[in-house]
Amino acid sequence: MLELHHDSAIADRSRPFDRYFLGNSEASQTAYRQAIAASLDVLERHFARLSQPYSGATPAQIADRLAAIDPCPDDPQAIDRILDRVGEAIVRHSVVVSHPRCIAHLHCPPVIPALAAEAIVAATNQSMDSWDQSPAATIAEVRLIQWLCREFGYSTTADGVFTSGGTQSNYMGLLLARDRYARDRYNWCVRDRGLPPEAGQFRVLCSENAHFTVRQGCAQLGLGERSVVTVPCDRDRSMSVDALERAIAELGDRDLLPIAIVATAGTTDFGSIDPLIEIAEIARKYKIWLHVDAAFGGALILSDRYRQNLAGINLADSIAVDFHKLFYQPISCGAFLLRDRDNFDLMKLHAAYLNPETNEKEGIPDLVTKSVQTTRRFDALKLWISLEAIGRVTFGKMIDTTLEIARQTAAAIERHEDLELAHFPTLNTVVFRYLPQRCDRPDEINDCIRRTLINRGIAVIAKTQIEDKTYLKFTLLNPQITIEDLVGLLDTIREIGQAYDRETANFYR
Ligand SMILES: *Cc1c(COP(=O)(O)O)cnc(C)c1O
Repeated sequence: MLELHHDSAIADRSRPFDRYFLGNSEASQTAYRQAIAASLDVLERHFARLSQPYSGATPAQIADRLAAIDPCPDDPQAIDRILDRVGEAIVRHSVVVSHPRCIAHLHCPPVIPALAAEAIVAATNQSMDSWDQSPAATIAEVRLIQWLCREFGYSTTADGVFTSGGTQSNYMGLLLARDRYARDRYNWCVRDRGLPPEAGQFRVLCSENAHFTVRQGCAQLGLGERSVVTVPCDRDRSMSVDALERAIAELGDRDLLPIAIVATAGTTDFGSIDPLIEIAEIARKYKIWLHVDAAFGGALILSDRYRQNLAGINLADSIAVDFHKLFYQPISCGAFLLRDRDNFDLMKLHAAYLNPETNEKEGIPDLVTKSVQTTRRFDALKLWISLEAIGRVTFGKMIDTTLEIARQTAAAIERHEDLELAHFPTLNTVVFRYLPQRCDRPDEINDCIRRTLINRGIAVIAKTQIEDKTYLKFTLLNPQITIEDLVGLLDTIREIGQAYDRETANFYR
């Protein structure tokens, strides 16, 4: 065997910047421990002070504090002092994601096992774009993707990749739909030649409640926002199958080309799930790519009680699922799943330095060819550690709990005459508004309620528009929330509304 000379003691030597890089010297490890301990102190103080979901600070107040700090001084500052200041200037004015009244968006409190995983992901800093930057991490991601494919009912022909979230996963679904259509229909390689001449006729169908990233993706893919055809919903706010068939027929009459249907499993406002089985049947009949945006609702696969609501998802050509929503992962963490792995070839590019053609012979997985990112985090580890530490049964229970709380909240809203429920919840969002009997300016009042709640640091809730009317929205992802928390908040909302009513009545008198 070839004898190679290398200095085995090389790693033990102390080096000039040891206090800044994690390694095996004592100076390095001490510095790491001190920095992490200081960040733990800041976090402990932040979470111990859990009385309000937000400090109520205005943008100007926050900017003033930050303006006083020089982000790049000539001389080093002590890490514990810096982090103390970060605690005061930034962490203190962050929304408290675990607070039971921080319920605006699909923005979850992260589970503790994932926070431990984040420390490992960050410190080991593996990059998923080539095997020599992430050997075990690559295999671990592949393993977790296989698990996900099975959970979603895909066969062994499936594959996938971790993404930064639903935006990227939806973009990928549309990209592959577009490119496969051009290849199969016109023998046209979009990657190589750009859009085919017929691209102006390409159309993408989704429900009127689909996420805006469908439009965004189409715009970025050169199809234009106008390529998106919105299909009306039924009364339960899921896509009407009849309307879908009618829309496809109309497109045919006008020589337009439906290249993809995007079904949503969990719309952002209502949690509604489109009828996946029926839509898949239509997609198959007309040979249209079906992408399911399950960014929100995909988590139901872990629930024994509600998994059935996703029936038919395995018939989709591609699926978007987010873990930084109902899977309680720190941002960012999502996945794109593909029923037929060969379709990844549509976006395959070779960079000699990252994924040489010899990889396949050596059994080295190429993740970079399946991603629109190059450098990419090992986010899969967070999900893996969380699933293992919490277990399927408890994970499912947490999800079920949030759905249950949403239903109870909807029922509580219905008991108040001055509150109007927009839609009985399918998942865990609750949309409603304050609407007393004689009310001239309901939009203004509901706007004011939301603003007052955040400005006073009482609650962080969302608003949304339905047919141009302003509604309030709770997104109840946190399984720690109780119905008592929400009943109390509903009372506060009504009080603010009543006070506003009285004041404006005086004003106009
Ligand atoms: C959140 C969400 C998205 C966007 O996902 P990001 O992770 O924010 O990029 C897309 N679709 C639906 C239905 C969502 O809820």
